[in-house]
Amino acid sequence: MITAPSTKYRIELLPLVKKNHAGARCNLHCRWCHNDYYKLHNSFDGEYTSQFERIITVLNSVKHYYTPETEVQISAAGEPALVGTENLAALIKMVREAVPGAIGMTTNGTVLREKDWQVLAGAGLAKINFSVNTFDPGLYRQITRKSGERMLPRVLANIKAAAVAGIDVSVNCVYSKMNNGEVASFIRFLEKTPGVRWKFFDLLNDENLYLPVQGLIDTIENMGYTWKTLQKGHYSFYRIDVGKSNLWIKISKETNDCPNLHCPVRPKCVEGCRSSVRISAEGIQPCGIRRDNVIAFDEIGQADILEKRLVSGGKLMPRELPHAG
Ligand code: SF4
Repeated sequence: MITAPSTKYRIELLPLVKKNHAGARCNLHCRWCHNDYYKLHNSFDGEYTSQFERIITVLNSVKHYYTPETEVQISAAGEPALVGTENLAALIKMVREAVPGAIGMTTNGTVLREKDWQVLAGAGLAKINFSVNTFDPGLYRQITRKSGERMLPRVLANIKAAAVAGIDVSVNCVYSKMNNGEVASFIRFLEKTPGVRWKFFDLLNDENLYLPVQGLIDTIENMGYTWKTLQKGHYSFYRIDVGKSNLWIKISKETNDCPNLHCPVRPKCVEGCRSSVRISAEGIQPCGIRRDNVIAFDEIGQADILEKRLVSGGKLMPRELPHAG
């Protein structure tokens, strides 16, 4: 049995920790937030420490599958910073002791303060992904249902502070009809902000607002930039350098590259995070689409079940032909 390349363990933190959040909801309500969060109906009661220990138990149960590239991402299913800076730092320290690879986090950047980034960097946070789709306060409200005047200055200050703290900073930006007029503003921000990787993504599941990224590629070329292109596995990357920062466009191929060739829903699979294993209040979810192969917390000690379901989610590849269902 070998591990699929670049597996990332995503800790879906917020639903694990219900007690401070009625219904464990995110503080924003973004129109493009993928729906996984809304499918998670289970949360645990209990102190943060006991929930974090549970996460570490899960990470330890799969540690013999780690490769040098294996990372942990504290992410998704809501804004992780809602658990508070101290609790976040405590979790990062615990994960750092359990996993050799880099620890990253995804955030909407609206909760943490500038002073928090040194604390998180000191705890071991190596990478941060901010989600920012516009600099326009009115559009920000349309996208997130929250005040852009109030939130955007804090988000931008946090991006700068994270970079100053030495964290590897990415900004994820969904390209659409809403923000295609802001490309020059994004580039001006990068010119003034060193150490930031701005990443554009295709908009999925919203035909009314979808714009092909080829238009973005052409727009930036017409501004006088020359793209460097790179193929990496399933993806093509386009890159330009902007001052001491850079801007990327990531495009996946149309084909499904999941290693589980026998998956019964493969023809309909639209999973975009195929390298991720999710850890949530429901247990371990080997892929973001299927529900029949979730490993419940009380099953993680059973190595045969764990392995079979990780194979069925495309996260482990048998050396022989897979028969993973
Ligand atoms: S195992 Fe998951 S990611 Fe792979 S093809 Fe099936 S549904 Fe898609």
